[in-house]
Amino acid sequence: MIADYQQQKTLRGSYDVCIIGAGPAGITLALRLATAGHSVLLAEGGGQEYSPRSQGLYACSSSGLQLYAEEARLRYLGGTSNHWAGRCRPFSPSDFTIAPPGDLPGWPIPYGEIERYLPAAMDIVDLPAGAPFKAINTGLDGGEFDPDRFLLSPPTRFAQKYATALEQTEGLDVFLNCNCVDLEFDSAAGRLAAVVLSDYEGNRQRQVARYFILAAGAIENARQLLNSQSLADAGVISQGGLVGGCFMEHLNVDMGTFILKPGLDQEAREYYTTDAFVEQYKIGKGNVRAALLAEVQTYGRTAEVKHFLENLACDMGVAGKVEFVARFSCPGDGVISTMIEQFPSLQSRISLLEQKDALGVAKVNVNWVLTAEDRNTIKCIGTTLATQWADMQLGFVRLNDYVYDTSIPLKLSPHAHHMGTTRMAASPQHGVVDTDCKVFGTDNLYAAGSSIFATGGASNPTMPLLQFAVRLAEHLDGRISAARSAAA
Ligand SMILES: Cc1cc2nc3c(=O)[nH]c(=O)nc-3n(C[C@H](O)[C@H](O)[C@H](O)COP(=O)(O)OP(=O)(O)OC[C@H]3O[C@@H](n4cnc5c(N)ncnc54)[C@H](O)[C@@H]3O)c2cc1C
Repeated sequence: MIADYQQQKTLRGSYDVCIIGAGPAGITLALRLATAGHSVLLAEGGGQEYSPRSQGLYACSSSGLQLYAEEARLRYLGGTSNHWAGRCRPFSPSDFTIAPPGDLPGWPIPYGEIERYLPAAMDIVDLPAGAPFKAINTGLDGGEFDPDRFLLSPPTRFAQKYATALEQTEGLDVFLNCNCVDLEFDSAAGRLAAVVLSDYEGNRQRQVARYFILAAGAIENARQLLNSQSLADAGVISQGGLVGGCFMEHLNVDMGTFILKPGLDQEAREYYTTDAFVEQYKIGKGNVRAALLAEVQTYGRTAEVKHFLENLACDMGVAGKVEFVARFSCPGDGVISTMIEQFPSLQSRISLLEQKDALGVAKVNVNWVLTAEDRNTIKCIGTTLATQWADMQLGFVRLNDYVYDTSIPLKLSPHAHHMGTTRMAASPQHGVVDTDCKVFGTDNLYAAGSSIFATGGASNPTMPLLQFAVRLAEHLDGRISAARSAAA
């Protein structure tokens, strides 16, 4: 059933599983666990539709690169899937074997651990069973780039697609306008005892469950952990430690422009770094998209982001200027955009502020920063692409100066792929969750979503995070069932 927590607060005394956040990760987990026969509370902070009251709780400050963290995320049923673009690219085996530079390790599990959940994740986002991830164009023959491969989800809007299932699945209670405002850790038991829930009048109540899952997005997952005084008092988390650290985005760099040689295919070209290239230069992976301006204005991977920026421009009263810049183009002129891997770094982080939001939860600051290694990735990908483009006589490329001169501030925009703030690791020395997605130092608190990514590769995060969500549902089903059998 779906109920409004503002009106009705009749929750069960206890649940097998309590999930915070009803975006793609939370909805997937809730439906799988309830269908497996467990009692599940899905607590969603927003309502059925967008509201400034809920969205305002996402307000955060920024001390690094501009992230538009408040505007890009959506805080209501279905989460950010209410305006995601649906581009799906799976992780590849090398994402799990190539370690990032620096002191932090990469993934502690092999790719095979999530590969087997790919069919389930594809089904969840309405991709046809067994459909191949198709190559786009022909790549740069013999060079450092393969053609990129991806599939487009319709895109699946989770609130609409799963509305009936959320309403009718036995054992599942979905409460809207039901905000998690605190996590109560019992240090003697080593377990989370309860979450504290609040309506919009600030009426709080404790809710007990056997297992808890944070599925509120990468920024909020870290925020909930950092905000919990009892977790801090028990030494499970510490400010300035790994929780909230390693915040990563995919880098959408405005690489420069090109003029396509007349007579060539006008379709956008999408390339992807080869593993050999990445390993040889110790750089991150990357997608590069070279598209004629006429095509960029209306279609393509960046269309959603463009609509978002258009709306922002309207709000800021500069729509006319933005429209002029966006629509002006000469025949054959194109732009080069990217989706490039950012390496995990403790400098790039979410941290707690003194200031509280309307419900008394500490606000956060996002310090999204890049390292020298990230700048090197951008430089290497940009200059190699330009050289190979010329070698193949595709036309002329003009790189922006900040691509090859790393002392010049970078011009980039976000993809809204937030990752890494509760990263997975083999030990608490290097991460926040273990290989089962359980928060180190607790027996029953889990995290879901791309906050658990140890590295982000250059694959869109939603389908992979669903693979992990299906895996976590299977793990918890096994744990609860085993405990039940032992008790019987
Ligand atoms: C413009 C745009 C385009 C995108 N395009 C793509 C794409 O093409 N491909 C791709 O893979 N990804 C894309 N993404 C990213 C994608 O939207 C996210 O990866 C995905 O939504 C993450 O799912 P999630 O469930 O982890 O988090 P979210 O979708 O952020 O859901 C979190 C949920 O938690 C709730 N919540 C938050 N705080 C609380 C609280 N305290 N208490 C209770 N509930 C709470 C929120 O209301 C929300 O419903 C795009 C994002 C944007 C902004």
